[in-house]
Amino acid sequence: MSGRQEAAGAVGQGRRVGRRGLILILSSPSGAGKTSLTRALREEKELGLEVSVSVTTRAKRPSEIAGRDYNFISVEDFMAMRDHDDLLEWAEVHGNYYGTPRRPVERALGAGTDMIFDIDYQGTRQVRATMGPDVVTVFILPPSMAELKHRLERRAEDTRETIEKRLGNARVEIERWTEYDYVVVNEDLGASFEGLKAILFAERLKRERQVGLPAFVDGLLAEKIA
Ligand code: GDP
Ligand code: ADP
Ligand code: 5GP
Repeated sequence: MSGRQEAAGAVGQGRRVGRRGLILILSSPSGAGKTSLTRALREEKELGLEVSVSVTTRAKRPSEIAGRDYNFISVEDFMAMRDHDDLLEWAEVHGNYYGTPRRPVERALGAGTDMIFDIDYQGTRQVRATMGPDVVTVFILPPSMAELKHRLERRAEDTRETIEKRLGNARVEIERWTEYDYVVVNEDLGASFEGLKAILFAERLKRERQVGLPAFVDGLLAEKIA
């Protein structure tokens, strides 16, 4: 049995039900709250989630920590990673390059650990195409366009020009919402966080994601009741 199959199993009479690791993808227009929700999920240690740390060619924001939020690299290094097939997916978003390093994902899934990806819709399409049934996708919507603008301004980490560019791209990104499995309107952060946990818990219990169920049920039915 592979590491992935042995993860988070239920035990009954020595028979084990395991689970396939999953990738939880969050996408949204800039400012809708993906980063806040991803951080909240990462900080809730009992969930056992690992966050995929992307590489990007954009400049670091003041609040960001290199290696935790992103690995900030040059365009030249990004292209070298892409050309060496070190990226599971990559895309140009708001004029910068972003990509998901392949190796940490393979390592985590191999160990049966679920991962969160905060990536855009172009990357989501690529990951869905290569990882298929192990991918669960969630689109985060803002409660209104006015609130989206307020949040980008309140975050106060981007220049006026960058904020304008991101707001200008928001419509095109929002139009991709139908490609996602779940949609969360992020009005109240706590409620959105609870929604994401509910999605994760339900997805973990999907029949097709649980490995060893037929043998477990056969064993149950063969058990002599005293
Ligand atoms: P193997 O264990 O020697 O077959 O090596 P692989 O590289 O094929 O897989 C390593 C681990 O990653 C195994 O536990 C696989 O089940 C798991 N794995 C491989 N591909 C995927 C995938 O697309 N998604 C998930 N969730 N796990 C995978
Ligand atoms: P994204 O990663 O999608 O660009 P962020 O998580 O950085 O978005 O959120 C943008 C800003 O909005 C941040 O200042 C964040 O604190 C704030 N924010 C996120 N979710 C909410 C919410 N539900 N209510 C109010 N403010 C929020
Ligand atoms: P930000 O600059 O606000 O952190 O991210 C801008 C956009 O790039 C967001 O839509 C975010 O989801 C996306 N993004 C971040 N990392 C990746 C990645 O590795 N791949 C792809 N395709 N998009 C990413």
